[in-house]
Amino acid sequence: MTIRALDFIRTEIRSCVGIETGGALVGYVSGTCAVVTHASDPGPAGVRRPAFVTIEGRHTTQFCWQLQEASGGRLFYLGDWHVHPGGSLVCSGADVRAALRQLEVNATPLPVFISVIFDRYGITARAFRIGWKGNATEIPITLGGLPSWREALCIPRFALHDNACHLFSQSHQTSRSSGEIEKKWRS
Ligand SMILES: [Zn+2]
Repeated sequence: MTIRALDFIRTEIRSCVGIETGGALVGYVSGTCAVVTHASDPGPAGVRRPAFVTIEGRHTTQFCWQLQEASGGRLFYLGDWHVHPGGSLVCSGADVRAALRQLEVNATPLPVFISVIFDRYGITARAFRIGWKGNATEIPITLGGLPSWREALCIPRFALHDNACHLFSQSHQTSRSSGEIEKKWRS
C-alpha cells in the first residue's frame, strides 16, 4: 500500500473515533503483488456506526472508474478496506459475504477480492484474499514503504491527470455496466 493511500485511510480513521469506516481500494497488480495506490472513504451517503459501515456504491463506483479512466485502465478496483474497532483483525463471515457479493457482480477484474482490515487507530492492518468459494487467505501487507504511486507504477508512458487526485471535488459522472458496488461491512 502506497503512502498516499495509507495517509488517506489514516486520516479517515482518525476522524471517526469509536465508529467503523471504510472504502474502496484501487491500484494495480505487479507479478503476484497487488499495489494499492488509492483509497476512498464511504461516500457522502455512507453510514458509519460503531458496529458496521455501509459504503455508498455510487460513490465508490465513481471513484474507481475515474481512476481507471484517467490511468488508461492501469488502475482498477482491487477490493475494500474497513476498520474493526473491537481489536480483532480477523476476516469475519460477514466480511467474506460482502466480498462474495462484489465478486458476483464482477466489481473487480481480479478473480479474488482483497479485503484490508485496520485497527481502530489505523496503525496496523491485515490483508485477506477472498476467492469465489468464500475462502479467505491472509496475504502479507506492506503499509507505506512504497514510493508515490506514480513512481511505484514505473511505467514511462503512464500519465494520470492531476485532477484525478482530487476526486472528491469533481462532479464527473461515470456509469458501469457490471452493476454498482454495494456492500455493508460488519466487524
Ligand atoms: Zn470486518
